Parts: sequence; C-alpha cells; structure tokens
Amino acid sequence: MGEAGFTLLDYAKYPFIREASEYLRETQLLRLEDLSNPNLKPVVRAAARIRLSAQPLKDVTAPEIPQGEEENELLSFPLALALARATGDSYLWRRLALYEARVARARLEAEPPWKIVKLAVENFGWKLSFDGGSHPPFRLHFSDYLRNASRFREEGWKLVNQPLTGGYVYLTKDKVTRLLEEEIRRLIQGRIERAPEVEVPEALQGLVEELKSYYSRVRRSLSTEELGVVRLEAFPPCMANLYFDLSGGRDLPHIGRFTLTAFLLNLGMPVEEIVRLYVSVTDFDERMTRYQVEHIAGLVGGKTKYRPLSCGRMKTHNLCPGGDELCGKVRSPLAYYRLKLKLLSKAGRGEKG
Ligand code: SF4
Repeated sequence: MGEAGFTLLDYAKYPFIREASEYLRETQLLRLEDLSNPNLKPVVRAAARIRLSAQPLKDVTAPEIPQGEEENELLSFPLALALARATGDSYLWRRLALYEARVARARLEAEPPWKIVKLAVENFGWKLSFDGGSHPPFRLHFSDYLRNASRFREEGWKLVNQPLTGGYVYLTKDKVTRLLEEEIRRLIQGRIERAPEVEVPEALQGLVEELKSYYSRVRRSLSTEELGVVRLEAFPPCMANLYFDLSGGRDLPHIGRFTLTAFLLNLGMPVEEIVRLYVSVTDFDERMTRYQVEHIAGLVGGKTKYRPLSCGRMKTHNLCPGGDELCGKVRSPLAYYRLKLKLLSKAGRGEKG
C-alpha cells in the first residue's frame, strides 16, 4: 500500500498532531462562543472523553469514529482540554492525558508503519525509520528512546537490553507505540497545564461543575474498590498525595513507591491487592511488582517487614506536603491514620447516638 499524507480521519484519530491543529485554525471551526451549547455534538463528545478518563485505564479501547463525524470528533479534543483546564483539577488533567495517549496507542497499533513513522518524526522530531527486512524492524535513535523509556521500570526496557547499533535501537511495533504513548501523554498533559485560563462561556459552566463532581465521585468509588478495607478518608495528606499520583498515572519516585507500599501493607492491605493497584495504572511488570511488594512485606529476601518512613524522613525526601492539624500530633503517617480512624469512628458514633 502506498504512503500518503494524513486525512481528516487521521486528524480525528490523532487530534494532538500539528496538522490537526492547523486544520482547525484554517477552517476556524474552533470558536468557543459558537460551541457554548452543552447539547452540541462536539461538546457532548468532549464531556464523554473526560468521563471515560475517570474509568480504570488498564484496557483502554479506541472509540469508533462514524463516517461524517470526523470534524465533531476532532473538535471535541481541544474542547475536552479546555473543559478539563476549567475544572482546575490536576488529577483530572493527568488522567485525561493518560487516557488520550492510551486511545492513540490503541489506534496506532493498527496503523501501517509509514504512518507511525510520519507521526513520530513530524510531531516529536524522532529519528525513526522502518525497514521491513530487519528484525525488529523499527530503528530509533537512542536519545529518543531514552527520553521516553526512562520512566519504565521493567528490565526489558533498559537500554542495555536493547539491540543497539551506531546509536540506534531496534524495536518492534509494539514497543514503538508504547514509547509514543508516553510522548503523547506528556504533550497533552503539558498542553492542559500550560493552557491560559480562558473564560468558559456561561452556558458551559454547569457542565464544568458536573464533570468536576463526576470525577470526584468516581475517584472515591474507584479508591474504595482499589483500597478494599483501607479507608482513604483516614489517609494523611502525604499518603493521599502518593496514592492519587499513582492512580492518576504519575510516576512515583522509588522512595515514594516504597513508603506507600509499606504504609498499605501495615494497614493490612493484602499483597495481591497492592500488586493489582500498581499494575492497573502503570506499566509495571506484574512479576517484578509482586516480588518488590513481597520484599517490603518481609515475605521474601531479608524477611524484614518494612514500615513507612517517619514524618521526619518524609520531610527529608520532600514527600510531606505540609501537614494538617492532626499532623502536629503525630510522628508518622501510620500514627496519623490510626488517630484519624479513631476520630472518624467517634464522630460516627456521635451521629448515631
Ligand atoms: S506531617 Fe507526617 S503524616 Fe502529616 S503529611 Fe507530613 S509526613 Fe504525612
């Protein structure tokens, strides 16, 4: 099949690419004042994008784009970003960026190699080429590889484990699309974060509020599902931040993962559930993650069950966001949790009594 340029359908599928933005600029389709009716198709679809991003992101699938709906689909992307920005919820921004990047990856997996190469070269400046005669067939400059793979913790992504010749890494299609997902996620997240505050038309303000509360509702129920017996409302600010960073798709520093894992284990959360929590939102290898969690639980290795860092050490590692009133009474996040739990159950008894 011959190579060609991107089509309107491609803009709808990959609305973050430069050509898609140019198309919107030239056609002047994106005018917030013309789109201030929450029942317009692009607005409905923009809100749907945000709602979908609140759902578990493990197995994201790409929605179908019906024929004739390409422009609406394309328009809904910058609108979703603007609505997200207006909510002011950075957790939502990260989830939306991750969701959009995973949808793009699911679509790229079905594309011919030339299209993947074109998208990566023209939008991200990758030095990437395809040679059907070599195995694996994609050839990527190691600097582009490292910029994106450094966030992945699995052994299989380490540069030393890649076939490397003359500064180029040889990759399968699967790996290239995974690296692109990371590049796309950063691009979209940066766009939301750096977007100037725009005045959302009054007619859409209700929708922004509705999306905000939808997100916090789902976040609460997701956390109940993910955390089981552990009660999120008793978490100290430091652990709540780490947990939301993780479930929002943000990479935690090693020490952050260690202390969050030790915290959850000490609260009685089973190893299996902690592994599921990590694997559902990151690319962590399940076997490796299980080993690390079991290690912190004292089930393998030195057989020491670790405790989370104390408040003092959390501060040293910049993991203490500054405590609330209760923080002044405790010296460790575990003590905070236990104290808060007591207060919550007292308040619960008070309400009943
Ligand atoms: S003071 Fe301690 S419990 Fe409170 S947020 Fe900081 S580290 Fe966490």
